[in-house]
Amino acid sequence: MINIIISGAPGSGKGTQSDLIVENFRLKHLSTGDMLRAEIAAGTELGHQVEKLVSAGAYVPDNLIIDIISNAVSQIDDSYNGLILDGFPRTVEQAQALEEILEQTGKKISLFLDIHVDEEELIDRLLKRGQIQGRKDDNLETIKERLKVYNAKTQPISDFYKKKNNYYRIEGSGEIEEIYGKIEDIINLVSKE
Ligand code: AMP
Repeated sequence: MINIIISGAPGSGKGTQSDLIVENFRLKHLSTGDMLRAEIAAGTELGHQVEKLVSAGAYVPDNLIIDIISNAVSQIDDSYNGLILDGFPRTVEQAQALEEILEQTGKKISLFLDIHVDEEELIDRLLKRGQIQGRKDDNLETIKERLKVYNAKTQPISDFYKKKNNYYRIEGSGEIEEIYGKIEDIINLVSKE
């Protein structure tokens, strides 16, 4: 079993790298951002509840996102070799709740990947994605807010995982395949332990 957390600022390439990882290692991909956008698009009650927060670049309440992940983790079937959490945990509270969720299901985190990209490049990438994909939160004002929130609330969770000795920092500038290569080497290394 290999259970991965992929973390990094908005635009660091978490989603792109997660897609490559799940393809090659047969892991269940749980992206809280994708889940929330699906709820919003489907017009569910939860979608209505979170729409304003997501489009303003603010985080949705911890209890709400913890429930979503708790449900999703309990529904993963045996056909997978593990899971990859993309966009969760994003706060120390979420990281602590995840420990309990995993304990209840007999799982543990194998590695925490922290993808690092300079802020200037992040803004550039997100503005381009906004033009291509039309994501509502990919506009300059909201991008700046998301980076601010990331630095204040998500950056500190690195320390939580550094203490557990399964923290890996990846330089996320450059070619997608080259970055994936570095990630693949780490996963292979950790799987052998
Ligand atoms: P993402 O696609 O991961 O960039 O997430 C898009 C947006 O969804 C974020 O800017 C937040 O508004 C919300 N979101 C996603 N994951 C979380 C989380 N773990 N905690 C709080 N808000 C989240």
